[in-house]
Amino acid sequence: ILFPNRLRVVEHEFEDRSKFREWLVDDGFRSNFMETDGKGHATSPLVWISKTQSEGGPDPADIEKYLGGHDATLDWCREFMQPAEMRNVKAEPVMVDDGHSADHGYDYDLIVIGGGSGGMAAAKEAALHGAKVALCDFVKPSPQGTTWGLGGTCVNVGCIPKKLFHIGATLRESVHADANFFGISSVGAKPDDMMGQLPAIETETHWDVAKSNIQNYIRGLNFKYRVRLREKSVNYLNKLATFKDAHTVEVKDKKGVVSEITASRFLVAVGGRPTPLDCEGGDLAISSDDVFFLNKDPGKTLCVGASYISLECAGFLAGLGKDVTCAVRSILLRGFDRECSERIGNYMKAHGVNFKMQVTPKKLEKVDGDRIKVTFSDGTDDVYDTVLAAVGRTADTAKLGLEAVNVETNPKNRKIVTKLEQSSCPNIYAVGDVMDGCPELTPVAIQAGVILARRLFAGSKEAMDYINVCTTVFTPIEYSCVGLSEEDAIEKFGEDRIEVFHREFVPLEWSLSQARHDSNSFTKIVVDKQDEERVVGIHYVGPNAGEVMQGFGVSMKNRLTYSQLVETVGIHPTSAEEIVTLSITKSSGEDAAAGGC
Ligand code: FAD
Ligand code: NDP
Repeated sequence: ILFPNRLRVVEHEFEDRSKFREWLVDDGFRSNFMETDGKGHATSPLVWISKTQSEGGPDPADIEKYLGGHDATLDWCREFMQPAEMRNVKAEPVMVDDGHSADHGYDYDLIVIGGGSGGMAAAKEAALHGAKVALCDFVKPSPQGTTWGLGGTCVNVGCIPKKLFHIGATLRESVHADANFFGISSVGAKPDDMMGQLPAIETETHWDVAKSNIQNYIRGLNFKYRVRLREKSVNYLNKLATFKDAHTVEVKDKKGVVSEITASRFLVAVGGRPTPLDCEGGDLAISSDDVFFLNKDPGKTLCVGASYISLECAGFLAGLGKDVTCAVRSILLRGFDRECSERIGNYMKAHGVNFKMQVTPKKLEKVDGDRIKVTFSDGTDDVYDTVLAAVGRTADTAKLGLEAVNVETNPKNRKIVTKLEQSSCPNIYAVGDVMDGCPELTPVAIQAGVILARRLFAGSKEAMDYINVCTTVFTPIEYSCVGLSEEDAIEKFGEDRIEVFHREFVPLEWSLSQARHDSNSFTKIVVDKQDEERVVGIHYVGPNAGEVMQGFGVSMKNRLTYSQLVETVGIHPTSAEEIVTLSITKSSGEDAAAGGC
């Protein structure tokens, strides 16, 4: 399985042992065989290495050498698995025959359901390889009535508006906390006589201006996506699709006009939608589907949840000057490295976000007109202008008709169960947030969509690799990582095998500011001591975390070791160089705070 291109299993049947010996002796295999073994090895397996990767039975002319039996083969595999060789070794995907043929007679080769990150990427790639493709994308309004254009979650109600608001909030914080220490002030401000420092710049924020600039930018993207689909000859249908049978979907447009279209293959890329808040009055809460479209300033806000979405929204709202509280049911950022997650919580607390720990909302009710009173599980209550529920996302498969086509879903999360993105109905595939086990990240959906389209329409044998995907949490202090958390590494390999190298440092951009005196960056790498000090996790909490981690992700794909990491010459003065100069081990007990340049 590991070496599909290098190993072939050839089966021969012999009437008896003597015929087997005759075959070995008569054939050109003998010389190799005797040279290696001397005695004449006559138990299976008998393994030769061939010169070429040709298909078919054994050919003496094609033998490079006789390898031996079981043990010799395992030794060869171990040798072959050295890191340099491993780089190009990938399992060849074996998919179930989906019955596709050139003359299938359906309307399309491929219908993609969902025009988000994964669906659009797959549709364009399939069309590039000559497939006749239609893409259905239809946005069902949120319970609050919010709706948007082509491009899916990332573009309209996810990564893009979130990152733009985050950039705005970070910019405001720099203006407040740093600018005066670089001699930048409001017009007419004078340095303090005693301290010689300028007063911090005062600002105010205009929600409506930020919101409409961001929305205008997104509308431009919606338009570009339509143009790109047209350029690639993908037929875009602004219609809601539901399966009728394995080759037919019913499609309904905005006016309720229904028709049917058929295809040889389908790709389901419908993503997910925010999980509603399950408590009395929960429908008064908005979700991330609404927050970027709010016509009025969100004001005092409660963010329910403690993972990516809640913390990112709480972060940018607080950064824009709002009074923000996070209601945390258990811990921050479950699944992430605990030490890094705690640092994020501490930074956010120090920068104005309130946390209500170990509580959930029990009841939401309208008070004073449009305000919302929230009663929590610990009996406390408070009144907010906005309640944002960010308690996870649910796959958007409820009304897709999957039961009509026997597509298996995971009952816990309604996601489609797949093997190599192929569902239990062989001509129906799934990528992105709707696929069970797929990290809910845009680049993962895109890459899986492109790779699948190449396998389906360009004869590719490549499979999507879901391991070691970098990710960044865009909280006020950003956090990026690739690989395992310290806790997961210990669980996987055992405490004895794991070493952590860590450092706490002040990024240069914050070093002048007195307002930042409590803000440190932090990085750590997690290493498997028993595997040549292989790096199994890299973590960084600090400015520009996403930019810092991307390149380290490449190294992790190539099985980075600690010695390779520290042999790499850093770029000075950057935060990323702190990672390539990590030397303090956690086991040494030395202080992780570095001296600085
Ligand atoms: P989606 O992008 O959700 O697209 C699915 C599309 O299918 C939608 O347009 C939907 O309307 C449509 N659809 C659904 N049902 C039907 C139907 N029956 N017929 C026709 N069309 C249908 N990821 C990152 O990598 N980085 C980030 O910084 C990041 N930030 C995020 C911030 C927020 C607030 C959220 C919510 C998500 C964020 N994500 C981020 C996650 C990222 O947005 C998703 O992983 C990604 O969009 C998933 O792409 P997809 O193609 O699977 O589905
Ligand atoms: P997650 O599923 O990651 O987290 C849900 C959060 O809500 C957890 O903190 C959970 O707490 C809490 N929660 C769940 N149910 C309740 C409840 N009934 N009451 C109170 N709290 C509750 O969801 P998100 O919505 O944050 O994000 C969804 C996905 O979107 C992420 O996994 C990520 O892949 C993607 N995303 C990526 C981003 C990025 O790349 N920067 C940004 C935003 C989203 P508990 O721990 O107790 O279960």
